[in-house]
Amino acid sequence: MQIVCLDLEGVLVPEIWIEFAERTGIAELRRTTRDEPNYDTLMKYRLDILARHKLGLPDIQEVIADMGPMAGAREFLDSLRERYQVVILSDTFYEFAHPLMRQLGWPTLFCHSLEADANGVLVNYHLRMPNQKQEAVKRFKELKLKVVAAGDSYNDTAMLGEAHGGILFHPPENVVREFPQYPVVRDYAALRVEIDKAFARAG
Ligand SMILES: [Mg+2]
Repeated sequence: MQIVCLDLEGVLVPEIWIEFAERTGIAELRRTTRDEPNYDTLMKYRLDILARHKLGLPDIQEVIADMGPMAGAREFLDSLRERYQVVILSDTFYEFAHPLMRQLGWPTLFCHSLEADANGVLVNYHLRMPNQKQEAVKRFKELKLKVVAAGDSYNDTAMLGEAHGGILFHPPENVVREFPQYPVVRDYAALRVEIDKAFARAG
């Protein structure tokens, strides 16, 4: 029994906050954990900016729907799901991912959630659990599944390390340098080849 665990942002869809900042012209939303390492401070800051710009969940979802998945993502995922079970493990929020999941054919997604008030204004966020990507892989292994994981960044490396095989997809150069143990691929055809190879190695 084989399962592929995929990161979402940077692998199948664009970086949602960055792309959202571009599309709305709200430059303050470009702030990431690199600028503000405290995640709670960063999220409160983001929700506050959205409220100040009077952007409720329906407005936000409309912008996100327009982003669409990356070119070829849907075809890659469909073909992968013919051969393997696939779960997407992401640090985004269901409410943001929703319009993109529709365009990807509703694959299984584990991520975090947002809380909106009656007017659609986002008032809080809820993290599902700490280290959910790595924890999910650990549990899949306990269920006797062979796991191959792919992601693009730091928040994926624990998941890649936990899996029977880990692959970096289109990672930034600093991640490539710091994690030389993982094969690096930059397009979906190469990713599929590495996934098949990783399962062949895992036996
Ligand atoms: Mg990512």
